[in-house]
Amino acid sequence: MSLPSASREWHLIERPEGWPDPEKNFALRESPVVEPEAGQVLVKNVYLSVDPYMRGRMSSAKSYVEPFKLDRPMLGGAVGRVLSSQADGFAEGDYVLHHFGWREYATFDAQSAVKVSEAIAPLSTYLGVLGMPGLTAYAGLLRVGAFKEGDAVFVSGAAGAVGSQVGQIAKLKGASRVIGSAGSDEKVKLLVEEYGFDTAFNYKKGPVKDQLKEAAPDGIDVYFDNVGGDHLEAAIASMNVHGRIAVCGMISQYNATEPTPAPRNLAQIIAKRLRIEGLLVGDHYDLQSEFVREVGAWIRSGELKYRETVVEGIENTADAFLGMLRGENTGKMLVKLPA
Ligand code: NAP
Repeated sequence: MSLPSASREWHLIERPEGWPDPEKNFALRESPVVEPEAGQVLVKNVYLSVDPYMRGRMSSAKSYVEPFKLDRPMLGGAVGRVLSSQADGFAEGDYVLHHFGWREYATFDAQSAVKVSEAIAPLSTYLGVLGMPGLTAYAGLLRVGAFKEGDAVFVSGAAGAVGSQVGQIAKLKGASRVIGSAGSDEKVKLLVEEYGFDTAFNYKKGPVKDQLKEAAPDGIDVYFDNVGGDHLEAAIASMNVHGRIAVCGMISQYNATEPTPAPRNLAQIIAKRLRIEGLLVGDHYDLQSEFVREVGAWIRSGELKYRETVVEGIENTADAFLGMLRGENTGKMLVKLPA
């Protein structure tokens, strides 16, 4: 078959300070499409994922994932269709999940790809509810948060990809009360009316501490932190004795240019005997099959609901990424490319 000659791909051209500036920090460039060699596949991407952790990779600071290289295509989760294969077990027309996102076409070792099937689940879900964010929610709540039936759970970023799943899993597993916070009244309504949270609040409408106290008069046993800052301080204030805090993300700080204030009430950790533990999804892939089995069944039965915000076109990927950081998404933020 004749292959396209050029692929458009997003490069990081300057590391952002504070909020990324799409004109200054990113460039959409063309590069030749490369024929696969032995063991490789050439893939045409169909869905690109934009995720909060990518902001960390745009900085040069040492972290758990390598910084993006300047003037090279950025990396990220993607699902694409195999156009040409020189690898055993991969054929033209197969769909694969891989890490060469932020571009239209990618040629890479098939070892780093996982086959996925539209017949089992919509392709987009392998990047969201059945993918990395879904496993983060599952492992973070059940393993790191040590959730048990009867616990009262608070989750921030609750209308996002991870947060919306945390709250619903907690409900399905017998939480006594599930509380969510989100950044708009529409999202708050969705949490209660569609996802079955017991209550939710708009963190932009008043101090988190006061709103959480009102939402959880009997306190909380598990806090799933996606936000950090005043959310974390408020959660510590509302924690019950022997409560657990699973620290998944601190998105309120990702674009900060100055050190951010720590919670001022850390001394409560002692009297309340709290456990605070960071979580990295990469540590929990041993739960993958259990996660897919249990969450897949809830999705099929309609007990677990999910939303996606889909932006069309490779040229809009940087805007989709920034939009996600600003809260323009409900559920997983994705970019769809023409099939
Ligand atoms: P997401 O929640 O779908 O999207 C990000 C959301 O963050 C936005 O929609 C926005 O919603 C909210 N947000 C942005 N700025 C905020 C602020 N200043 N205060 C409060 N909320 C703010 O993203 P996601 O992929 O599910 O990730 C959620 C969190 O999990 C992030 O912190 C991410 O870094 C973390 N994460 C961690 C791991 C891990 O392995 N540790 C893996 C995946 C994700 P609003 O409209 O509600 O503001």
